[in-house]
Amino acid sequence: MSVYDELTGTRIRTTAGKLGLPHLAETINEYARRADEAKMGYLDFLDLVLSEELAVRDDRRFRQGLRLSKLPHHKTLDEYDFSFQPELDPRKVKDLASLSFVDGKANAALLGPPGVGKTHIAVALAVAACRAGYSIYFTSLDDMVRSLKAAEAAGRLVNKLGTYLRPSVLVVDEVGYQPLERAEANLVFQVISKRYEKGSIILTSNKTFSEWGQVFGDEVLATAILDRLLHHCEVIAINGPSYRLKNRLQAIERETDVA
Ligand code: ADP
Ligand code: MG
Repeated sequence: MSVYDELTGTRIRTTAGKLGLPHLAETINEYARRADEAKMGYLDFLDLVLSEELAVRDDRRFRQGLRLSKLPHHKTLDEYDFSFQPELDPRKVKDLASLSFVDGKANAALLGPPGVGKTHIAVALAVAACRAGYSIYFTSLDDMVRSLKAAEAAGRLVNKLGTYLRPSVLVVDEVGYQPLERAEANLVFQVISKRYEKGSIILTSNKTFSEWGQVFGDEVLATAILDRLLHHCEVIAINGPSYRLKNRLQAIERETDVA
């Protein structure tokens, strides 16, 4: 490399740094070598540099988004075995994965007994939305209620509500595992009604909607919550065997076979 090239390289690294293009600053020599080898034209070279910079930036944003999302894991739909739930139509789930409901600020509800993969699918949809550039926040209903109650007691409710109102997609896991008191249900209503037509909710529940009156301790409040939630909502009911139990039962069978 000539002295002239080295000077130019140094200047490009400095400029790229100032422009906030750290990837370009690190890889300019590599880019130049590839361009030489492929005898690339000016437009192709610029196209390569810019599109790689964008890909690196998207990837960084995706990983940062996943960190902030508090998702319990990052499972995808590819890891979900649809053959284990023959009553669940894969097309319905794959439709959701196109994320048009997120674009339309609508909701998705996954209902069914424990172990059928409600959280798995909710997380997979959230990961896909994160990859597409949407901000995500995951919470169980109980954690959300607990944290809103604590904030209310400390006079910081408005601030805390922001945690659940800001993200493009709020995942509310495990609605209905614990019945709520009236004041708690009211906090949930605030989140649901303030997000209505402003941002998506993906929720999972082991209860049918008709049981929500018991969950929220008040039929009127439950109806008000369901009214906002279900106005624009894709509902997927998974009524099948527990995947957790499947593995357990197979293990037990193996153990008893040996014995
Ligand atoms: P739920 O939220 O309905 O109780 P989870 O989503 O937590 O169930 O699923 C329990 C465990 O079983 C998780 O590890 C999940 O990844 C796995 N699982 C559930 N259903 C399937 C499936 N059909 N294919 C692959 N893994 C599954
Ligand atoms: Mg779950």
